[in-house]
Amino acid sequence: MPRPPAAPVDNIVDADVCARAGSTIARRFSAAELPRLREAGGHDGSAIEAHFQFSLFEGRPAVTGELHGDAVLTCQRCMQPVAIELDDTFQVLLVAEERSDEPGGYEPVVANASRLDLGWLAEEQVLLALPLVPMHEPGDCDAVEASDEDASTVESEDEAPLSAGETKQQPFRNLRDLLRKQ
Ligand SMILES: [Zn+2]
Repeated sequence: MPRPPAAPVDNIVDADVCARAGSTIARRFSAAELPRLREAGGHDGSAIEAHFQFSLFEGRPAVTGELHGDAVLTCQRCMQPVAIELDDTFQVLLVAEERSDEPGGYEPVVANASRLDLGWLAEEQVLLALPLVPMHEPGDCDAVEASDEDASTVESEDEAPLSAGETKQQPFRNLRDLLRKQ
């Protein structure tokens, strides 16, 4: 009889038990196991190694973690794949309900502690660690000529919201400018 495929259940742990035991768990996740990273544009080569160190903080499970690996995204300059190296740490406290403070410096994360999905937690932290606008280093990017000075062509600074607000307050003051732009 064929064995069932390796169940993702392997990634589900009881965080309360782990916290009391002070467990350290290491897992490796491929792109196939990171659906939200894929939704965010992650390509097949993505692979993340995550370490989770469990402890108790004020009676709740806390996780101090590390992420290492590559998220392969699309360079927003040349639209080719770019491997973004991840080397990040996180400190989260598993809580039952949303809270706005950061007890003990831990970032509160709403999760079912008795059935914590390590893949979900790792992916959550990977998404937070990703750059807003993934790009190659200028020297590695097809879209950047060696002598090119417009390495900052990507519109990272959008000044529209501010000027729009000003326009609202003083509707006619910038009319000339607006007309000129049309
Ligand atoms: Zn590029």
